[in-house]
Amino acid sequence: MQGLDDIIASVKAYIELEKESGLTDLFFKAPSGSMPLPGNLGELKDQVLLCTKCELSKTRKNVVFGSGSPDARLMFIGEAPGEEEDNQALPFVGRAGQLLTKIIEAMGLKREDVYIANILKCRPPNNRAPLLPEILACEANVKKQVEMICPRVICTLGKFASQTLLKTETPISALRGHFREYEGIKVMPTFHPAYLLRNPDDKKLVWQDMKKVLKELEK
Ligand code: URA
Repeated sequence: MQGLDDIIASVKAYIELEKESGLTDLFFKAPSGSMPLPGNLGELKDQVLLCTKCELSKTRKNVVFGSGSPDARLMFIGEAPGEEEDNQALPFVGRAGQLLTKIIEAMGLKREDVYIANILKCRPPNNRAPLLPEILACEANVKKQVEMICPRVICTLGKFASQTLLKTETPISALRGHFREYEGIKVMPTFHPAYLLRNPDDKKLVWQDMKKVLKELEK
């Protein structure tokens, strides 16, 4: 009968043999050409910049990955880049973006303190609404961003971002102003700044929502 020490010794010898023969690499390493799993935001960004998973990759000028602090306690998620964002490769830098910047500053914060991203990373032509295959191709990216940043609060801007993240068809008028949860993180849906440019009277409702966000961040 083999003793325990003998068994351990032969398993060790077998593992050594496997390593020397390259068998371990063959069975356990990812096949060459496949992408390694991203471990941080920078690696994720490098992968997303090369993405060709949907048709928007053919019409975009730039991938708009997101911007801000990787340690942000507050994350804003919008719909998709527009023309200016596509040109500059930065989220929310057009007219709606300027209003978002004002909202952030009114909260006593700077853009660099928060993280800003979109559900879609590429501009839909003529700013049309995102299509289901585009959402399905891109959704994992924003989920990974949320996982890596791990903010205390997420603020979803508008119907599209709110319904996509929260997997609901409830209208934004009913969603806004009430905290929900995504993966254990508080989510405050509110109106999109582009909507506010057309409906400035509703800015006061967004301010009410931002006050709730600030209160939550104080906890
Ligand atoms: N609208 C969005 O939803 N995202 C942007 O980045 C710009 C406008």
